[in-house]
Amino acid sequence: MENTISKTAGELLAEQLLENPKNAGELMSDEEIAAADSFCEGYKQFLNKGKTEREACTEAVRLAEEAGFVPYDPQREYSAGDKLYKVNRDKSLILTVIGQKPLSEGILLAAAHIDSPRLDLKQHPLYEDGELALFKTHYYGGIKKYQWTAVPMSLHGVIVRADGSKVSVNIGEDEGDPVFCVTDLLIHLAGEQMKRTLANGIKGEELNLLIGSRPFKDDKASKKVKLNIMSILNKKYGITEHDLVSAELEAVPAFKARDLGFDRSMVGSYGQDDRVCAYTALMAVLGCDRPSRTCMTVLTDKEETGSDGNTGLNSSYLKYFIEDLAQAQGFTGRQVISASMCLSADVNAAVDPTFPDVTEKRNASKLNYGVVVTKFTGSRGKSGTSDASAEFVGRIRRMMDNGGVIWQTGELGKVDAGGGGTVALYIANLDMDVIDVGVPVLSMHAPFEVTSKLDTYMAYKAFSVFFETE
Ligand code: MN
Ligand code: MN
Repeated sequence: MENTISKTAGELLAEQLLENPKNAGELMSDEEIAAADSFCEGYKQFLNKGKTEREACTEAVRLAEEAGFVPYDPQREYSAGDKLYKVNRDKSLILTVIGQKPLSEGILLAAAHIDSPRLDLKQHPLYEDGELALFKTHYYGGIKKYQWTAVPMSLHGVIVRADGSKVSVNIGEDEGDPVFCVTDLLIHLAGEQMKRTLANGIKGEELNLLIGSRPFKDDKASKKVKLNIMSILNKKYGITEHDLVSAELEAVPAFKARDLGFDRSMVGSYGQDDRVCAYTALMAVLGCDRPSRTCMTVLTDKEETGSDGNTGLNSSYLKYFIEDLAQAQGFTGRQVISASMCLSADVNAAVDPTFPDVTEKRNASKLNYGVVVTKFTGSRGKSGTSDASAEFVGRIRRMMDNGGVIWQTGELGKVDAGGGGTVALYIANLDMDVIDVGVPVLSMHAPFEVTSKLDTYMAYKAFSVFFETE
């Protein structure tokens, strides 16, 4: 019990009028901290099973079916409490729980992305040089290229053969699997390379993945290392070199999600932007039981390349789906969309004490201060932003406070330091109220990103509370 009598008038006034943010580790009960730690065990599994947009989609469907969700059938009539999902081209997914109120009251939407920065293979990837076999890559999303060398990598994706049949690839994840890597120059001979700027330290065409070195035994054949690799790929996947033209193969870091820190307070892993929000928004919708309003989580693709393309949120797939649901209840799509609210669930940059200069400390998010509410994103003069209204921020703020969610505000770096965007503007452009809500991250877009378990749990709690809106 605090003794108020011993406090000065100034102390009492400050308590009443001034903000006093606290670390979630101090605010949360031991029981809730334990719940957060155990929640993140499932999160790490999700990270390990879903290292690409396709795998994250498949894993999300598996979890959804376990929770009683069934594939959406446009012929069927749905009623309150029904749980359905719709997959878009194996790379994005919409999960819906039908509410008790009519759709004209609006949908509660959480939107996260399941694509992450990585190295895609080119359409003619395989070559031999210096009696080594390599794959040419084309990086996907914004990366600091030098971070992706000398890191064990695994290979994921699909290959469509000449006859149209499809084979899945996932190699480098199991203990017994081989891995691959992009090589870097030894420091002893890197004098010239070290004079390059950090941006050019490794160039795009230097991100070549080492995949083999042993020749096929034959006196006459040439490029025998390449031939040997192709022979292995043919035996394993039934493909020829030309089949790689119709493939989507993605090289991602091969290591697993791990607890980080002596106190195990953090998760270190590849692909947390934005699977940390994807998992929390997924778990929140899976936990919906006969909600008042219709609840929806969309796990989308292509955010890291600007949301264009038929699996990105700048396409019409979400709108079409809502229109179909609306029509079935006798409404137009726009009636439903305009009445809906969205949490654009994406990560924010946490203050890094080693690099404090890029953030403005009064407005940047911090690890362990809860889920981040970001009113606007964009760069320079808020270019490319969806700036949530004061009224909508006020509504979300009340919702968080009433629901016991620990939250903070954040912005992506100092004014003029750079910036970035999320899917929020594409949803706002449909005429929906939307605000960015997500988890603060350290080393964003690096092969190994860092989040706090308490923040992740608060994101889950935020989405869950949102879905309880009357
Ligand atoms: Mn993101
Ligand atoms: Mn990103």
